[in-house]
Amino acid sequence: MRLSRYFMPILKENPKEAEIVSHRLMLRAGMVRQQSQGIYSWLPLGKKVLDKVNAIIREEQNRAGAVELLMPTLQSAELWQESGRYEAYGKEMLRIKDRQERPMLYGPTNEEMVTDIFRSYVKSYKNLPLNLYHIQLKFRDEIRPRFGTMRSREFLMKDAYSFDMTREDAIHSYNKMFVAYLRTFARLGMRAIPMRADTGPIGGNHSHEFIILAETGESEVFSHKAFTDFDIPAETTDFDDVAGLQAIFDKWTSVYAATSEMHDEAAFNAIPDTDRLSARGIEVGHIFYFGTKYSEPMGAKVQGPDGKEHPVHMGSYGIGPTRLVPAIIEASHDENGIIWPESVAPFDVVVINMKPGDAACDTLSEKLYASLKNAGKDVLYDDTDDRAGTKFATADLIGVPVQIIVGPRSAAVGEVEVKDRKTGAREVMTLEAALNRAT
Ligand code: ATP
Ligand code: MG
Ligand code: MG
Ligand code: MG
Repeated sequence: MRLSRYFMPILKENPKEAEIVSHRLMLRAGMVRQQSQGIYSWLPLGKKVLDKVNAIIREEQNRAGAVELLMPTLQSAELWQESGRYEAYGKEMLRIKDRQERPMLYGPTNEEMVTDIFRSYVKSYKNLPLNLYHIQLKFRDEIRPRFGTMRSREFLMKDAYSFDMTREDAIHSYNKMFVAYLRTFARLGMRAIPMRADTGPIGGNHSHEFIILAETGESEVFSHKAFTDFDIPAETTDFDDVAGLQAIFDKWTSVYAATSEMHDEAAFNAIPDTDRLSARGIEVGHIFYFGTKYSEPMGAKVQGPDGKEHPVHMGSYGIGPTRLVPAIIEASHDENGIIWPESVAPFDVVVINMKPGDAACDTLSEKLYASLKNAGKDVLYDDTDDRAGTKFATADLIGVPVQIIVGPRSAAVGEVEVKDRKTGAREVMTLEAALNRAT
């Protein structure tokens, strides 16, 4: 992508409305724009990162056996009346009437709709287990939307829903998502801690919030420090291995971790002083087993091996991609801007032509740009007439992992400078060496 033809509206000034660093950097880098309170457009640079985040989420969901579909944002109130949540949901739900005065709503979540799909088609235990997911916009009329897309009113959610014949099977489905989540957040360059969350009237211990530690996080969390040493389950993990997945779950839930709602002061104090972690965190994912809470009232039943009908056991599993993007930035930035983990960087490498119009600079830059593209890299080519200082500042701000700087003096002898965004290390080398480094 040539920067001169791209759309990346960089802000020079720090936007006053941004209270936290990720919000400030997303606005300054031209990633998002607020359209009305808590409702955002994702501009091209932001959209590229969001797509990469979604691709990783999708890969891990598929690997764990979940099946993707797409449900609409607008839902009929009828389904929610069936489950009893239409009245109960309260003011976070945006209620709409269509031209026939029929009550509709902008979905804050999809348990009812997916249960309706399930009951319409699946009649036998032989078709289970089943896990259906989508990545779709949600709307919640948050009382206090803030921190940019961290807590917005319209936001993207990956929500998966599992259906099983028995509670035991449902726990295996839960463990699949538990493992998929550990892998997903690790691939996004973050260590998320699964923390016990409230199960309400359902009871049991099968609700976990995945929390990323950050000073600006809205949740108060308490945990053992041991989590930093736990191994992330491998790509080769067998998701059909019931005992194997249970062992991973047991390991990751063997030490104390809870949000303030579930905090048990006595259990926490039993941890040795130096192993105690009391911090703030961001909820990036939430998984929940809720049994027959929706299948019972909505009549989502399958015929069991006994020939009788049984309401299915369900769970739901959410991740917030539009919250993850700022969460990644909170965890990875410096005073000059964002430092993207390679897995989600909007571009793999940026080629900075310091002096467009200079024959040597142009030739070398074009050559780099073409070769890197051919090698399958996502390349940003800064071919603008901006001052050198502006170009460097932009490259640092948008956080592309590798910068290749083409200046007139070194270009004349076929050399360029390669800068690592994370460490700041710079090295002069030949064009060939730079290509090797970046591919
Ligand atoms: P919170 O406690 O932050 O309000 P929640 O518990 O209401 O979140 P869930 O219903 O568990 O959220 O939704 C699943 C995921 O969707 C959350 O873990 C989070 O990543 C994301 N999410 C929820 N609300 C928002 C929001 N207002 N803006 C952005 N992402 C959100
Ligand atoms: Mg909420
Ligand atoms: Mg929550
Ligand atoms: Mg939650």
